[in-house]
Amino acid sequence: MDLNGKHALITGGGTGIGLAIAKALAEAGAEVTITGRRKEVLEKVAGGRIHALAMDVADEASVVEGFASAVAARGQIAICVANAGIAEGKALHKMDMAFWRKVIGINLDGAYLTMREAMKSMTGLEYGRVIAIASIAGIKGLRGAPAYTASKHGMIGLVRGLSEDYMGTPITFNAICPGYVDTAIVSENTVSIAARAGITEEQALKMMVQTNRHQRLITPEEVAHTAMYLCDPNSGSINGQTMEIAGGQM
Ligand code: NAP
Repeated sequence: MDLNGKHALITGGGTGIGLAIAKALAEAGAEVTITGRRKEVLEKVAGGRIHALAMDVADEASVVEGFASAVAARGQIAICVANAGIAEGKALHKMDMAFWRKVIGINLDGAYLTMREAMKSMTGLEYGRVIAIASIAGIKGLRGAPAYTASKHGMIGLVRGLSEDYMGTPITFNAICPGYVDTAIVSENTVSIAARAGITEEQALKMMVQTNRHQRLITPEEVAHTAMYLCDPNSGSINGQTMEIAGGQM
């Protein structure tokens, strides 16, 4: 795939799934802006066609400013991947408004702001791809994580709505819905689930692995592979879809 001359922006692109997508896009020739809150994390992996930009997706001014500077530096955005997210779980009776707002603010408000600012730049293009990294928790309920589940269902609703609104343009909107992927989110959840459920970290990890139908963690590169499939110029008729990557049917 030749993405030479195309500018891609990936939120949360300094680690995990976002970084795997950034590397794959850069390898295909795109200029890739990676964003996140921790500048030092971004700068460590930037270089060549990968460019670091500090931006907090939960902060409207930061997103507006971040997109403006990325577009000024590398031109219109042709590929936007709304990937930034947190996966913190808490039962309803233990959740307060601040926790709810944090999860929705980063995962759903963040995706909205990212797509809104991307669309401002994606005018008059002959090719455009907007991809949301949702989750299988966007398709079905994830036990112990109602706020996360709501945020990921919301991301899919946003993708479906925008795919209708921009129908007939060269821009497609799709969501990728992975099961458990081998990233920091899983290692952090291994610790927090073990503490909450009173089980060992080994048991907590086993629980997550067993949720994936093929009984193994998914690699970030497998998710990146699906993102690249959606970025292929021949994928222009795939729009408003959810691509489940969970080793089997959910
Ligand atoms: P990760 O390595 O922890 O990536 C999350 C990224 O989001 C980090 O780079 C983080 O960077 C960024 N981020 C978090 N809050 C942000 C904010 N307010 N503003 C900007 N960036 C922010 O874990 P990952 O697994 O690759 O997660 C990527 C996405 O995949 C998430 O949306 C997650 O929900 C989704 N997902 C993951 C799994 C899984 O099992 N790993 C499964 C399904 C879906 P900073 O902290 O530096 O901001």
